[in-house]
Amino acid sequence: MNDKKTILTGDRPTGKLHLGHYIGSLENRVKMQHECNQFIMIADMQALTDNAENPQKVRDNILELGLDYLSIGLDPKINTIFIQSSVPELSDLTMFYLNLVTVARLQRNPTVKTEIAQKGFEKSLPAGFLIYPVSQAADITAFKAQLVPVGEDQLPMIEQTNEVVRRFNHTYNSNVLVECEAVRSSVGRLIGTDGKSKMSKSLNNTIYLSDSSEEVKKKVMSMMTDPNHLRVEDPGKVEGNPVFEYLTAFDKDKEGLGDLKTRYQKGGVGDVEVKKRLIEVLEEFLTPIRERRAEFEKKPEEVMNILKEGGQKARLVAQQTLKDVRKAMNINYFND
Ligand code: ATP
Ligand code: MG
Repeated sequence: MNDKKTILTGDRPTGKLHLGHYIGSLENRVKMQHECNQFIMIADMQALTDNAENPQKVRDNILELGLDYLSIGLDPKINTIFIQSSVPELSDLTMFYLNLVTVARLQRNPTVKTEIAQKGFEKSLPAGFLIYPVSQAADITAFKAQLVPVGEDQLPMIEQTNEVVRRFNHTYNSNVLVECEAVRSSVGRLIGTDGKSKMSKSLNNTIYLSDSSEEVKKKVMSMMTDPNHLRVEDPGKVEGNPVFEYLTAFDKDKEGLGDLKTRYQKGGVGDVEVKKRLIEVLEEFLTPIRERRAEFEKKPEEVMNILKEGGQKARLVAQQTLKDVRKAMNINYFND
């Protein structure tokens, strides 16, 4: 191996990726792909922890996610893109780690807690769902990843992973597992088109990376702005105004944007002008993404093959870690 740092990252195949995902972690993955060894995992097993009755949904979204990755410019020649269940060693690691984590600690994980409430799991909580932070610890440590690009809500997972790492290394007096660090986005969380605090597919306030020009135009034109900015001549608010938040995240012409903001705050700029600028900016961002997607959509077998080969490559790495782990625990019965 070279001296590049290793990244483990990924998404659950439960739907298409949107601008919020891009800002949350995809942007960092695209930026860091040349300077790091990046493993990008399509987390099908994790998706099943709250979709057990709907494996078809998971299956359908595997190709979708693969297309999203390739279309944003993640290069399959330098990234290892793979499906979680192609690497069964991850499940072995999860089983070993589970003995180092208490149920109470899992129940205290703030992200898990929020999600249990959101999904109405208070009454009948799938055991697999409760333990998914441990399976994430297995995913990250299997590749000895030092860096994990994540959205804010994933920070408790990084913390829990590092607890597992320290507990394992301490318990088995080893240094096999490596602690990791979150790579956070510059913008943080992207708000929804409706002004709600988060763009999220279940809130129906998203712009997808795969949306057509028509869809983007329609969504932007009906976006929330400053509710008190009624007439063109009224002074408008920029903070918390989704149209400006998106411009801040995506407009490369910072000077022009600064200018527009000043004029909007003074009064004299209509929402239509600002929205038209946002459409322009998003079109510039999405056009190359759409072009790459159109190419890969013509050859789904090639996309699936990228995932298959990625799985084989990822597996070799995870197999070695599992060996190291078993050796550290002194349960490598056949010295293999
Ligand atoms: P769901 O409605 O099913 O919860 P979602 O659209 O909120 O879907 P998630 O699958 O919950 O997306 O998010 C996956 C990851 O992407 C999260 O870990 C989160 O950090 C990041 N992410 C999602 N939405 C945003 C957003 N609006 N801004 C920044 N990061 C985001
Ligand atoms: Mg969510």
